[in-house]
Amino acid sequence: MLETEIIKRGDDSGNGALIKYTSSTGAVVKSIGIPQSWQTTLGPTWCYVLEGDDLTLIDPGCHGSVDYLEQGLEELGYSLTAVDRIVVSHGHMDHSGSCLPVVQKSGAKLWAHEVYGSMLQADRWEMQSAWRREVQGFDAFEKSETVTRVKEHHERNRLLTLDQPVTDELQSGGLTFYYTPGHSPDELCVLFDQMLFSGDHILPLITPHPSVVMSYENYKSTLPEAYRGGNEIYGLKVLLTSLKRMAALDGDITVLPAHRAFHRGKLNPIGLERATEILEHHRNRCHELTDIMKTGPIDLASLTTKYFSGRELEEQNFFLAFNEIMSHIELMQEAGDVSATLDSDNGILWSNGLAPNALLRWEGTTLFSDLIDRL
Ligand SMILES: [Zn+2]
Repeated sequence: MLETEIIKRGDDSGNGALIKYTSSTGAVVKSIGIPQSWQTTLGPTWCYVLEGDDLTLIDPGCHGSVDYLEQGLEELGYSLTAVDRIVVSHGHMDHSGSCLPVVQKSGAKLWAHEVYGSMLQADRWEMQSAWRREVQGFDAFEKSETVTRVKEHHERNRLLTLDQPVTDELQSGGLTFYYTPGHSPDELCVLFDQMLFSGDHILPLITPHPSVVMSYENYKSTLPEAYRGGNEIYGLKVLLTSLKRMAALDGDITVLPAHRAFHRGKLNPIGLERATEILEHHRNRCHELTDIMKTGPIDLASLTTKYFSGRELEEQNFFLAFNEIMSHIELMQEAGDVSATLDSDNGILWSNGLAPNALLRWEGTTLFSDLIDRL
């Protein structure tokens, strides 16, 4: 267990807060609650500050938040120019959005997984646009501020250079890097002493969105050569495999996540058992989907609408909800529990065997559960 001290209280979600963690071996890590630059209930991105041979920052936060980072560092007794290394858990904008100004101001080296490096140059939003246009109900999302921000984020980060492309189990200066794809194809967890910085891979209170297998074919050509032989980096199965791997780490480890470490005025300490809880959440979601599908063949959009309700289905959220359901159907399809057939002769299936007008048929089995056990 870690000793936790709130050095400075931020708001109720932890925006602007400073927290100090001390392990039983005396290792110290400090964190800064970096606010997002947009309205969100997510709360801050927790940036972790590690003082070893090098001064390391894990996840500097979103674009437009550098002043908060700089102020937090100063209150902790560091200057931004003293930072030697920036480690990015994954390329999403709330984690790596401020990398460019932080690298420019500090001169620090940028460390991230090698897939992160390959993603910097690709026009990833455009590469997925073909299938998105085929789904009704995505228009509101396509026109949303979120999409504008994602595009700007990619555009800005084209100017970044990855100084250290990290691969699985790399060790450096007391840090061990684990490649844990699934939420994102470039996700890293980082072990330091008894602390595992989990990025978005393991979060308290909320479950990170799984990516979808279909993205693999869309992005394959942009990946490093070693990743082009078959999908091991996208989809729910990949996420669950990565969760099992972290759950099996040895030792008295506390998980330090990038979100919700503090929420509604309370700390939310978690251990590795949270990885298993998240896995069971997804297994349960598959079971719940069979409950809807047992009433008869259904298309993906209708399944999404029947499964979620209220805020989760608001226009702009429909894209995320649809993806969440698709990731589970992909797994059940692989296990042999679900088959998809086109309801007319003139459609084509996506690379994952699904399509907006395909009807999903449940075979009456729950082989997905054995598949999850065997991962
Ligand atoms: Zn995040």
